[in-house]
Amino acid sequence: MLKTNNEIIVQSLGAAETVTGSKHLLKTPELAVLVDCGLFQGLKELRLRNWAKLPVDPAEIDVMLLTHAHLDHCGYIPLLVKNGYKGKIYMSPPTFELAKIILLDSAKIQEEDAEKANRGKYSKHEPALPLYTVEEAEKSFENFTVLDHNVPLNLSPNIAFQFIKNGHILGSCFIDMHCFGRKIVFSGDIGRFTSDYLAPPTFLKETEFLFMESTYGDRLHGTKDPALELAEAVFGTYSQHGNVLIPAFAVGRAQELMKILSDLKRENKVPYNLPVYLDSPMGASVTDLLQKFPDWHKLTTTECQDIYKDVIINREYEGTESIIKDKHPKVVISASGMLTGGRVLEYMKFYAPQKNNTILLVGYQGDGTRGRDLEEGKKEVKIHGNYVQVNAKVINISGLSAHGDQGEMMKWLNGFEKKPQKIFLIHGEMGSMKVFKDKIESDLKIETEIMPKTGEVELFKTS
Ligand SMILES: [Zn+2]
Repeated sequence: MLKTNNEIIVQSLGAAETVTGSKHLLKTPELAVLVDCGLFQGLKELRLRNWAKLPVDPAEIDVMLLTHAHLDHCGYIPLLVKNGYKGKIYMSPPTFELAKIILLDSAKIQEEDAEKANRGKYSKHEPALPLYTVEEAEKSFENFTVLDHNVPLNLSPNIAFQFIKNGHILGSCFIDMHCFGRKIVFSGDIGRFTSDYLAPPTFLKETEFLFMESTYGDRLHGTKDPALELAEAVFGTYSQHGNVLIPAFAVGRAQELMKILSDLKRENKVPYNLPVYLDSPMGASVTDLLQKFPDWHKLTTTECQDIYKDVIINREYEGTESIIKDKHPKVVISASGMLTGGRVLEYMKFYAPQKNNTILLVGYQGDGTRGRDLEEGKKEVKIHGNYVQVNAKVINISGLSAHGDQGEMMKWLNGFEKKPQKIFLIHGEMGSMKVFKDKIESDLKIETEIMPKTGEVELFKTS
C-alpha cells in the first residue's frame, strides 16, 4: 500500500542523483501523488532502468501531476498507464498539447529504432522491441486532464495544488502544494530570466519544503550574448561552405533558436539567404500551438508567424536525405537535443566526419549521451552500430539553454518572501548538486539535502 498512516513521505523513483527519469512520489494518508513520470536518458545503465519494473505498483498511485512536456519528465507515462495506472494526469493546457506531440514522436522513434535494429541486426535483443508503441502512447492520453495555471484544485480533503509558470518551456509550471496544512513546492525545471520568448520563473511567496532542480547548480552560462555566439558560429561555418547542425527538440528551445536566427538575418549578422531547416515531423504543429496559447509566451502573432517565414520545415523522412545531399551551406535544427536518437543522427553520420561543418550544442548534455561525448571532445561516436568520426567543430553555447544557471536559480530562491525551511535537491548530477548545496547553505542559510537515489524522505507527520 502506498498510503501511509500519518507520515508525509517523498520517494524518488528517478532524477535523484541524476538528471533524467524524473519521478517523485508523495505518499500521504489520503493519496499517493506522482509528480512527473520521465524517461531515463543517457548512460546505458540509466536507459536500462526504463525497462526495469517500477519499485511501486502503478495501480496504487492515485493521481499524477506533470510539470512540463520534456521527455525526461513525461516520457514514461505510456508505460505507467500500460502497467496499471488508472488515475488522472493533470497538466497545463500547452503541456497537454505538447506532451501528446512529444510522446507520439517518442513512440514513433522507438518503433523505428527497433525496426532498424532488427533490420541491421545490431541489437543484442532478438527481436529488438520498442519501450512502447504509438498505440500505447495514444491510450495514455485518455488519462490527460487539463488545469490552467493559478487555479487551485483540491485533490482530497487535505491536499490541494496549483500550477504556477516557471519559464522553462511553453506550458511549464511549478507545483505549489498544500498538504495537511503545510506547503510543498516541486520546481520542475527552472527557466531563464533572460528569454525573449518566455516570461521569467514566477517568484513564490513561501514554502516549507522545496524539491528543486539543480542541473546547472555548479555553473554560470557566461556573460557573452548567446545570440552573438550563435552568429559567430554560423558565419564562421558559412565562410567555410560548411553546415551547422543544431541538435534540439522541435518544441521548446527550437522556437527561441529560430527567433534568434531570424532576428540575426534581419540584422545582417548571418547571411540573409542562408537556408535554415527545421527537420521535424511536428514543426508545423508547434506554430499552431504558439498561436493557440498567446498568454503562455511573449511573442506577438506577427512574431510567431515571422520566425517560421525564415525556416524550411521538413516533415517526411525522404526529405532528410535530400537536405543531407544538398551541397549548399545551411543550418539544420533536428531532434533529439542530446543526440540520443531521432533524425539528428542521420545528419551526424554525414556531417560529423567533415571538418568544415559545425555541431552546435545548445542544451544540457546528460552524462553518457552522444551530446556529452561531443562536449567532452571525443573524436568518435557510435551511431546505429557503427563508429562515426567527429572532425566537425563542436561549439557549446550554454547561454541558449532552457535551464537557469546557478545565478538564476539563486535569484529565484532569493525572491521568496519567506525563505523555504528545507530544500531537497533533485534533477542534477552529483558534482553539481554538491556545489549548489554548499552555495545555498552558505549564502541563504537554508538547510539543503541531496535527495537520496533509492531512499525516501519523511517530511512530517500529520498528527
Ligand atoms: Zn525540461
